[in-house]
Amino acid sequence: KKITIAIDGFSSCGKSTMAKMLAKEVGYIYVDTGAMYRAVTLFAMRNGMIAPNGEVNRDELKQKMQTLRVEFKLNEQTGRAETYLNGENVENEIRGMEVSSHVSAIAAIDFVRTALVEQQQRMGRDKGIVMDGRDIGTVVFPDAELKVFVTASAEIRAQRRFDELKGKGVEANFDEILNNVQQRDYIDSHREVSPLRKADDAIELDNGELTIAQQLQWLVERFEE
Ligand code: C5P
Repeated sequence: KKITIAIDGFSSCGKSTMAKMLAKEVGYIYVDTGAMYRAVTLFAMRNGMIAPNGEVNRDELKQKMQTLRVEFKLNEQTGRAETYLNGENVENEIRGMEVSSHVSAIAAIDFVRTALVEQQQRMGRDKGIVMDGRDIGTVVFPDAELKVFVTASAEIRAQRRFDELKGKGVEANFDEILNNVQQRDYIDSHREVSPLRKADDAIELDNGELTIAQQLQWLVERFEE
C-alpha cells in the first residue's frame, strides 16, 4: 500500500494542484512544503534580515529560527489548509512577488532546510500523506512508495502562476513571473544543499498538455498500480 507520496518538480508546474487533488481523492493529508520556505522568507523580510541586494543575514536568521513557528490550519469555509507564521495567517502574503523573489536564497541555507525537513518528516509519520516540494523524494521521504517528478515548459508554468495570482486578486506581470520562475529553477537546481533533481525511482510526468482531470487520472492510476 502506498502511504507516502512525494511530488517534486520545478516552480509552478502544478505540483500543488496535483498533490491536493490526489490527497482529496484518497483521503490523505496534503502538505505544501514550498509554503513553509515562503513563510520563513516572509519572517526574514519582516525582520530586516534581507538586504536590498538580496543578501541574507544568516547569523541573525539562525538565532531567530527557534522563535519561528510555521503551521497549517484548515479554513473551514474553503476546506483548504492555510499557512500560519507565529499564529498569523500569511497565506496570501507568502504568494506575492516579493517573497517569490527571495525564497530560493532562503531555501538554499542549510540550517533552514534542516529545521523544515525535520518538521516535514514528523508530519508524515504513520499516516497517509501527499507532500509536494523540491526534495521530498530525494531527502524528506527517500522511501516514499510513490514518487512523481513533474515538468512543463517555463512559459506554461509562468502562465499558470499568472492565472493563479490573478484569480486571487494579486497584482501580477507575466514577464516578471516568467523571469522569477526561471531564476528559481536555476537557483533551486544549482544550490549546494539538496539541489532540485529527479529521484532515481521517481516517475516523470510532463503535464504541460494535460487537463486537470487527466492529471488526476494519471496519479490515481500510479497510486493504484
Ligand atoms: O513550491 P513553491 O514554488 O511555493 O516553492 C517556493 C520555493 O521554495 C522554491 O522555489 C524553492 O526555492 C523552495 N523549496 C525548496 N524545497 C521544497 C519546497 C520549496 O527548496 N521542498
